[in-house]
Amino acid sequence: MNKKIRIALDGPSGAGKSTIAKNVANTLGIDYIDTGAMYRAVAYKIIQSGLDVENKRDLVEMLENTDIDFSKGNIILDGIIINDKIRTSEITKMASICSAYSEVREKLVSLQRKMGQSKSIIMDGRDIGNNVLKDAEYKFFMTASTKERAKRRWIELTEKGENITLEDVEEDIRQRDYKDTTRELNPLCKSDDAIEIDTTGLSIEDVTKAILDKIK
Ligand code: C5P
Repeated sequence: MNKKIRIALDGPSGAGKSTIAKNVANTLGIDYIDTGAMYRAVAYKIIQSGLDVENKRDLVEMLENTDIDFSKGNIILDGIIINDKIRTSEITKMASICSAYSEVREKLVSLQRKMGQSKSIIMDGRDIGNNVLKDAEYKFFMTASTKERAKRRWIELTEKGENITLEDVEEDIRQRDYKDTTRELNPLCKSDDAIEIDTTGLSIEDVTKAILDKIK
């Protein structure tokens, strides 16, 4: 592919963004940037270091000494691959909390913009189309019913061995939706120029194809 393209993929938790983004990235031979994993990496470091997220001075100092990158599909925090450590319910909750802090968002948004500067990418998250990559060539907004998103997340968590009920996952998704859409800074909302895809009842293949068809 000669021309550089940037694809922004936004939507609420459990809409299936990361699975679809990986498929699209593989098909087009471009990089995939999972911005949720970057907020999870910060959350992981906050929990590991016992930092009080409300202590702005400590938070800023920690962020100044934090290095987050992707390599071969892995998320790297301070030189260490942390893929399998950031998908727990505890990290999910802290990611949702720390992503509302301007200090955290400024650092991660600036990193994300740099990642999108030099190469073709698909980036998924909550504020990609209307903040991080406002001038992306393609923008999509993926949704699905709360029940379906909860079911998908519950299957993912129980397969990893977490002991959690479907009702608790659904409640957690509702709370995260509320936090993500009502926070002051870069709340989750569809940008006017994004194509909306409701994935309820659709297969992974259907959604991947719908996106690839628009790009081709
Ligand atoms: O997408 P994922 O569930 O991994 O994201 C974890 C959390 O990070 C979300 O609940 C959201 O609060 C935050 N996030 C964000 N902006 C993004 C990506 C994720 O605020 N671009």
